[in-house]
Amino acid sequence: MNTWTRRGLRWLAGTALVLGALATGISAMDAPLSVPPPGADLPHAWPAARIPSGLAFSVIPTSQSKGAFEALLVGGGSWLRYRHPAHVAVLVRHPQGNLLFDTGLGRQVDAQFAVNGFMDRQFFGYEQVKPAVDQLAQAGWTPDRIQRIVPSHMHWDHVSALPDFPDAEVWVNRTELDHARQGHAPAFLASQFKGVRHWHDLQFTPTPYMGYPQSLDLFGDGAVVLVPLSGHTAGQVGMFLTLPSGQRYFFTGDTTWTIEGLQKPADRSWALRQIVHVDHDVPANQAAIVRVHQLMQRFPDLKVVPAHDENVLKTLPHFPAFQG
Ligand SMILES: [Zn+2]
Repeated sequence: MNTWTRRGLRWLAGTALVLGALATGISAMDAPLSVPPPGADLPHAWPAARIPSGLAFSVIPTSQSKGAFEALLVGGGSWLRYRHPAHVAVLVRHPQGNLLFDTGLGRQVDAQFAVNGFMDRQFFGYEQVKPAVDQLAQAGWTPDRIQRIVPSHMHWDHVSALPDFPDAEVWVNRTELDHARQGHAPAFLASQFKGVRHWHDLQFTPTPYMGYPQSLDLFGDGAVVLVPLSGHTAGQVGMFLTLPSGQRYFFTGDTTWTIEGLQKPADRSWALRQIVHVDHDVPANQAAIVRVHQLMQRFPDLKVVPAHDENVLKTLPHFPAFQG
């Protein structure tokens, strides 16, 4: 080994040591969220439901994020795992009508995204775009077969495809819509929603559901029930889905980006939260994380799906396959 090789190796080892120490130091700022004993409002049994036999759902993967180390996406995550959060639409096929929960990235995403500055374009970069409307068309679904779109929230990566479904009713609560209209890039991109023709004011009823004080039973049969999940944005919503098989899902939007955040439970990493302002109301979002964690503890069969967790999403049926 010559002197230069030895010097090079020493330099590499030194750099690795410094990076390792830095990563350890940064991760030391991440502590799991504290979990109080569940209150009396957390139920012990599932609410009654009359699930129609034709109900089924399918995940439409529309793109993936260029990604980040897991340790940045979730407090306590690994610096050795590189994650590619997915951008998906969830298609719910119900005998009374079909809906999309979130849209993923749409046909116009490049033009929509172009208003972002250089740093945001790197930070929120995406790849492998396959808009839901095109995948539906390949399977013979015209866009008008989607009667409703329920965005979990109005961030750009959830409503990019609204222009691809001009006839759909878009169900958003007033708080979220105001938040989005007052918002700006990179979180909210007005070009995605200013042309919506059919807004529907999503209003919860004072009917408690699975520990949430309000809910909205979309078809009146208990199959698809929305609950308020604000914190990440002012009016984020979550979706409970109960299939004819009895399997239950809870789609939790961006309360966390990964299932690990709900399991630990942990917020997004401290380091990331120093760089970008991600959550509208941090304490409210942390309370939402803890509540989902408590639900998972009590109902181990409940399958919880954070909107971007590529590992959870790949276990679900992908369009054109459905699960009922
Ligand atoms: Zn998102």
